Amino acid sequence: MNASVYGGAERLTTCVIFQFPTSPWTVTVRFLPNMIDVIIVGGGPAGLSAALVLGRSRRRVLLFDAGHPRNAPSKAMHGFLSRDGMDPAEFLKVSREQLRRYADVEIRLGEVATARSCEDGFEVVMADGTTARSRMLLLATGISDTLPDIEAIERFYGRTVHHCPYCDGWEHRDRPLAVYGRGTSGLEFAVELLVWSRDLVLCTDGPSELDDIGSKKLACLGVRVIETPIARLEGDEDQLSGVRFKDGNFLAREALFFSPQQKQCNALATQLGCELNNEEAIECGENAATCIPGLFAAGNVSRGLQLVIIAAAEGTQAAFAINQALLEVDAAAEAGMPIEPQPHCPESA
Ligand SMILES: Cc1cc2nc3c(=O)[nH]c(=O)nc-3n(C[C@H](O)[C@H](O)[C@H](O)COP(=O)(O)OP(=O)(O)OC[C@H]3O[C@@H](n4cnc5c(N)ncnc54)[C@H](O)[C@@H]3O)c2cc1C
Repeated sequence: MNASVYGGAERLTTCVIFQFPTSPWTVTVRFLPNMIDVIIVGGGPAGLSAALVLGRSRRRVLLFDAGHPRNAPSKAMHGFLSRDGMDPAEFLKVSREQLRRYADVEIRLGEVATARSCEDGFEVVMADGTTARSRMLLLATGISDTLPDIEAIERFYGRTVHHCPYCDGWEHRDRPLAVYGRGTSGLEFAVELLVWSRDLVLCTDGPSELDDIGSKKLACLGVRVIETPIARLEGDEDQLSGVRFKDGNFLAREALFFSPQQKQCNALATQLGCELNNEEAIECGENAATCIPGLFAAGNVSRGLQLVIIAAAEGTQAAFAINQALLEVDAAAEAGMPIEPQPHCPESA
């Protein structure tokens, strides 16, 4: 990447134009008075963690959060060292409180409706029409889960119906469990769940789509398969008691696990020109940079291993990369010299 520097060493008026030799992009970064260094979209573990590290790096940060964290249906967050079993809402509350001491970090509640690259960096437009601009942009907007089309599943989701055995399997260890799924993914998910309970029934809600080998494997492992279509889930408040089938039969189960379909929560990634992989996540390198210069992504929006501690770590990783990118630009501008910063594309990670 080549960078040409225009203007003197005075920070407020200097402008750097980046030309990536392997891409058609040209980015102009201007040092304008009061320019926000980083806008973060999303105030979950990834976004808040990035805000913390950037705040501590004396960056001006504006974080927008729509207030719909992915794990909102859950009452206990597991697997986060020192926070095991904590209410996820309490975790976010404490995290936001700890950011208050960093005066250059501002959190605003509200949804970012659109985002685009612009001459100075990026511009976001809120749902209420207000706009904000920054030199760099971090998407930490999470991911959206699609629940199976089963009557009453929302009532139990996050309490006794789960998608992640690493998050909630231990609480249901050795108990009677149902697995919802079919075909290879249903088979693999059932085999995975055997770590937590040997009392498993795979409910395929129609034809199992298992081949002979898959069926034999499950039979050998003691996993019963029920193909009868499901009518609904039943239970008392949020405690599942079992699965009611369309033929009237009832299977008593204490919890049900399924593997959700996922999609982006909004159109921001595509508006900005990000590439999505076949799991609907933003393609980015290990340094959290996307292929759009100055645009970074962290947490569930971009990664497959979807745990709070990992999302927080990815936010930290993104903050390092963003701070490094800003340092490179600022150092070149202040020295009045061209620079050769590292490209921030996935291929280079
Ligand atoms: C039911 C359930 C239980 C779970 N249990 C566990 C567990 O026990 N342990 C564990 O480690 N993980 C658990 N997870 C996974 C965990 O929730 C995620 O890994 C984690 O929340 C990802 O953090 P994130 O910051 O990437 O996204 P999120 O936490 O989803 O945060 C994204 C934020 O961005 C905001 N946002 C989205 N779009 C916009 C926009 N356009 N403008 C402004 N803001 C926006 C959202 O409102 C949200 O507040 C669970 C998930 C679910 C669904």
